[in-house]
Amino acid sequence: MSPAPRPAEPVDWPEGRRAAAAFTFDLDAESAVLYEHPTARHRMSVMTHQSYGPLVGVPRLLRLLERQDVRATFFVPGWTALHHPDAVRAVVAAGHEIGHHGYLHEPPTGLAPGTEAEYLDRGLDALERVAGVRPVGYRAPMWELSYHTPGLLAERGFLYDSSLMDADVPYELAVPDRDSSLVEIPVQWALDDWEQYCYLPGISGSGLIESPRKVRELWSLEFRALRAEGGCFVLTNHPFLSGRPSRAAALEELIEEVTGTGDTWVAPLADLARHVRSLDLPPRTLTPPDPDRP
Ligand code: ZN
Repeated sequence: MSPAPRPAEPVDWPEGRRAAAAFTFDLDAESAVLYEHPTARHRMSVMTHQSYGPLVGVPRLLRLLERQDVRATFFVPGWTALHHPDAVRAVVAAGHEIGHHGYLHEPPTGLAPGTEAEYLDRGLDALERVAGVRPVGYRAPMWELSYHTPGLLAERGFLYDSSLMDADVPYELAVPDRDSSLVEIPVQWALDDWEQYCYLPGISGSGLIESPRKVRELWSLEFRALRAEGGCFVLTNHPFLSGRPSRAAALEELIEEVTGTGDTWVAPLADLARHVRSLDLPPRTLTPPDPDRP
């Protein structure tokens, strides 16, 4: 049996900060439904549930972030950029980071490398055309990174990915055959509003929609425990979900708690990634487990 990958090393945060936190928003809009449920394009109510994100959620969240003086990261599928250019340009104008999030929100697992490369390039082209942005960060749609994604990202000059789940702090992820690495900034399902709030009949969710009070408690508890251990709190929200009024209000309370600690570095993921790159950490190699090998 091959040795288990070495756990990520603890990270020294800048200026003696104890922990780090990032607020990230996946601006999926309709694309989150269109790729896996193409016939849902004819369901007008479902489409408006999704377009609420760029139309109403984004402006509300941008006001919130400005009030809190927090810079965030918005991951945007190329299709969404082309169809909601005003929302994407408003995000850029407000000084937030734009990251790559596929073209039509296609999960890379199950795609041939050539097809995956094509979607990556279409996404890059759309972000460049709409917002004049060349992103340094990537997040796989549905957090479904494939084992060949890191190589395709490195080929295109990406600095970091934020889709994996095996650490509480960022680390360097080795890129096989390229003698290079990507900074990996881990995420987890408990810190994703989709699991708490999303209900789309026949598409996603059980019908249970959590109270923002309960969600705020879930996220606060995780933040406090991570902070105590010097970890990196990465929250993932979707404007079509957390852009709704009571949820945005709960998110704002959480941001106040995080910034109010005074010892937590709150930054966009690109800033976190650049800091981690400066630490010159040894990269970790991840390979697919072999079920046939004892
Ligand atoms: Zn997404």
